[in-house]
Amino acid sequence: MLYGFRRAPTAIAGLAAISMIIGLSIIAPILWGEAANRLDIFHAYQGASRDHLLGTDELGRDVLLRILVATRISIALSIAATAFAAFIGIPLGAVTATFPPRGRAAVLRVIDTMLAMPGILIAIFITAIVGPSAIGASVSVGIASSFAFARVTSSLALSIGGREYIAAARVVGVSGSRLLLRHVLPNIAEPLVLITAVNISNSIVDVSSLSFLGLGVQPPGFDWGRLLVQGVQAIYINPLAAIGPAAAISATALAFGFSGEALARAMNPLVRDGADKGRATKQIRPRVAPASGKEALAGANPDQAGSLALAVRDLTVTFSGPKGPIQVVAGVSFDLREGETLGIVGESGSGKTMTVLAIARLVPYPGIVGGSIKLNGDDLDKLPEARLTRVLGTGMAVVFQDPMSSLNPALKLGTQLTEAAEIHRHLGHQQANETAVSRLYEVGMPKPQRQMGRHSHELSGGMRQRVMIAMGLMNEPSLLIADEPTTALDVTIQSQIIALLDEINAVHRTAIILISHNLALVGQLCRRVLVMYAGRVVEDLTLEQLLTGPLHPYTRALLGAVPGVGLARPVRLADIPGQPPDLSSPPAGCAYHPRCPLAIGRCHHERPPLLQRPSGQRVACWVANQDMIAPERARN
Ligand code: SF4
Repeated sequence: MLYGFRRAPTAIAGLAAISMIIGLSIIAPILWGEAANRLDIFHAYQGASRDHLLGTDELGRDVLLRILVATRISIALSIAATAFAAFIGIPLGAVTATFPPRGRAAVLRVIDTMLAMPGILIAIFITAIVGPSAIGASVSVGIASSFAFARVTSSLALSIGGREYIAAARVVGVSGSRLLLRHVLPNIAEPLVLITAVNISNSIVDVSSLSFLGLGVQPPGFDWGRLLVQGVQAIYINPLAAIGPAAAISATALAFGFSGEALARAMNPLVRDGADKGRATKQIRPRVAPASGKEALAGANPDQAGSLALAVRDLTVTFSGPKGPIQVVAGVSFDLREGETLGIVGESGSGKTMTVLAIARLVPYPGIVGGSIKLNGDDLDKLPEARLTRVLGTGMAVVFQDPMSSLNPALKLGTQLTEAAEIHRHLGHQQANETAVSRLYEVGMPKPQRQMGRHSHELSGGMRQRVMIAMGLMNEPSLLIADEPTTALDVTIQSQIIALLDEINAVHRTAIILISHNLALVGQLCRRVLVMYAGRVVEDLTLEQLLTGPLHPYTRALLGAVPGVGLARPVRLADIPGQPPDLSSPPAGCAYHPRCPLAIGRCHHERPPLLQRPSGQRVACWVANQDMIAPERARN
């Protein structure tokens, strides 16, 4: 914690000043309380002297002693106002972030309107209602400041709501309140601490301003605001009587501001643990040899797969666009059996990621999902919410693309690993810990016990992805979805991660869906491949069929663009001419026809159906399926 302070000299100065101010607020009323109130009207309005360093006020009281004694009430009222603001504002902002979009927008508009007004005006208005007093001033300033807390908390919570570690926690069924308390708030604590410290400085000024206006501390009590107003009244006789309290207010506000920044840094685990020192992480040895191309080609036969793990029928995902609905996934249907490994490939925008997000129920708002999804026989649309959470939490795990953003940076790995098992399998903490350690060992993490107490930033990219896979395995899911899990990793680590997934599939019989644009990588792990284009499945084939003769021109084009994979092994890699279609106005007929070298007449106006061929291969192409369909009739 001291690390953040050590690195900021202003913070050390701020902390020293705050220590002194707090010390003064404790001892000043005890040491000088009586002297500060002693009247000496024969020496009223005196200038600075050895006896009175800042002179005296209209009743001959020592200005400096009164400033020192007023420290306690000024600081106490300001801290109370800030605590009140945080107490109201942070929960209000956090809960607002969980509202449905329309409700959230309405609440945020109200908060924004309040923020548009100067806080001191709101405080004056509230004080006018509750009556002038020290407590009234503190409460008024607290309420006026709470809108800033609410707005910042809500914006911060929403900004991290789309992070992959939040999505991962939602997949494993972490409830809304727990998600907020354990995953969202710790990750926005740093800016909240900063705003709290800044707010204390603002509150010192605001509470003093209310006292200055006669709405805060009432005579015979006095705080810096009241001393300031008295000093201003005598500014031409003894300017130091006004400068003294003004300097106390400014110095204290600055001290809290500087310290808040350092405290916020100190709370950041990246800084706290000295991650920016460039700590080295060890490369780990793969537990199994990476599957080479040939070995992967000779992988398990899909026919040997067991019971149905996943059944997807007519899956659609639709977003509203300026020109009307945009269907980014259109009528996708497939089955996945226990132990089966399925690769989903296609260019960016082909709908592969959106398909698995729909399966994991993570499609972002305002996407609308249609069709049916059955996980281990349970129709996800027909389950009550509580059972759905449990079925998803125990039956499915998702490994995302970027392991850095998939792990919660504010929580220790052990906490993240054990959470889902404690929630869904009701394991005790000890048992969940033991399971987590064994899972870390299983995915090849060195010294797994030690890893439990580390944060994600202390690990290399490959190790983070192993931790993500270990998290996925905690509840022994029947389906593991890996969405481009190796994109952020170097080639060696990519092979290790694919080999690890292969090992998990072999040991646990976990069905795996691997999303990738890299056919070569898919070929190392998957026994079956789904090719997507413009939101639709255009070919569904085994790995062997892929390597010996894909039928769809798009699959052949993808294959030709991959080094070392494919029939002809071209010397120069082929690229696919043209661009994927704009899904807001897709081409008529076959969506691939503007880029297809084999396009015939009907391709331009009739969409080819996905037909199952005798070989079991499913293809959506008029030319590839011409032996199975009636010839095109002449169009009038
Ligand atoms: S249907 Fe026509 S345009 Fe589409 S892939 Fe087949 S041949 Fe090409």
